[in-house]
Amino acid sequence: QVVLGIETSCDDTGAAVVSSDGQVLGQALASQQDLHLRHGGIIPTLARQLHEDNIQQVVDTALAEARISPQDLTAVAATVKPGMALPLSVGVQYGKDLALAHNKPFIPVHHMEAHALTARMLYKIDFPFLVLLVSGGHCLVVLARALHQWSIIGSTLDDAPGEALDKGARRLKLRNLPECAGMSGGRAVEHLAKSGDPLAFTFPSPMLQHADCSFSFAGLKQCLFKIAESLEGEHGVVGGQVVPQVNDVCASFQHAITGHLLRRTHKAMVYVSVRDLLPPHAQTLVVSGGVACNQYIRGALQRLCDTAGYQLIVPPPHLCTDNGIMIAWNGMERWLAQIGVLYNSEEIEAVRFEPRAPMGEDLSE
Ligand code: ATP
Ligand code: FE
Repeated sequence: QVVLGIETSCDDTGAAVVSSDGQVLGQALASQQDLHLRHGGIIPTLARQLHEDNIQQVVDTALAEARISPQDLTAVAATVKPGMALPLSVGVQYGKDLALAHNKPFIPVHHMEAHALTARMLYKIDFPFLVLLVSGGHCLVVLARALHQWSIIGSTLDDAPGEALDKGARRLKLRNLPECAGMSGGRAVEHLAKSGDPLAFTFPSPMLQHADCSFSFAGLKQCLFKIAESLEGEHGVVGGQVVPQVNDVCASFQHAITGHLLRRTHKAMVYVSVRDLLPPHAQTLVVSGGVACNQYIRGALQRLCDTAGYQLIVPPPHLCTDNGIMIAWNGMERWLAQIGVLYNSEEIEAVRFEPRAPMGEDLSE
């Protein structure tokens, strides 16, 4: 059994073919990151155009690598929610058309559920388990109860961590440093932070008084903006010049974001424990989303898990950022469980993309 997965929710056109035992038989990814970095953000119409230009090639490459034709597919899966409307529309239409043309079942996929379940392709992890999703658009702690049963324990009240890192990197003009060429904001901050002092600048510790498990990154971002402004004033920085001590600034910013993630995740562990939501002998924390590529954050989470008696599972970086593999795997899990599989052509035609879609019931209040 083989499922094709298609991802176009943001700025990556991804496609992959996976088998029921979790083998990636073929995959391809066309990233628009460079172009959007130059524009300082994603322009939806441009993103749609690039998805349209690339999708055929990306799907063909994934199929060719898997040495199969669409006729051999068990089912076609595509991200239908959440994400940017225009980019999503391309993958949804392409996936539906392909399924209808070859008489294959179609499986609509939730992008964040796919991020969360990638770990199950690589390791044996039984439900329920705790998940921390940290990306460009989300910050969520959720309880994965079953394939189609998710409970939100906490989410961000403002920015996502990747968003704070990207906006921080832009404010610091990291793109003007040759050593950061082509890197996402988060990766550039991590790179520069390696030779910086994480305690050089003081950042606030957000939400210490909040009993819930929510997150907030806007205050940390604002603090970074203030530090940049005062350093620029102090040193008479002009134009596209990067502030002095940029390594220390990045290290301190990354350290503050990490500390906040750690404190809130710890709160979530306490939450699920007092409510008996996770069996004590099977405590696993899965972390995914682009920010989970960050080694500093991974290291800190590992120490938290060691102390709390949790097993930490983080997929390799190329499976943490957006890709077609995670969509194909989610499609495969749904196929094997026969949950959310559409067979009937009217049902398939009726599928619409949904820019906003919560991940499940909200337990965070
Ligand atoms: P979402 O999944 O919420 O829809 P997205 O799909 O845009 O958002 P991903 O592709 O999962 O997000 O992740 C992209 C984000 O990950 C960017 O904000 C980027 O800065 C961040 N990121 C990538 N690498 C790193 C890193 N090494 N350290 C920190 N952040 C990183
Ligand atoms: Fe994503």
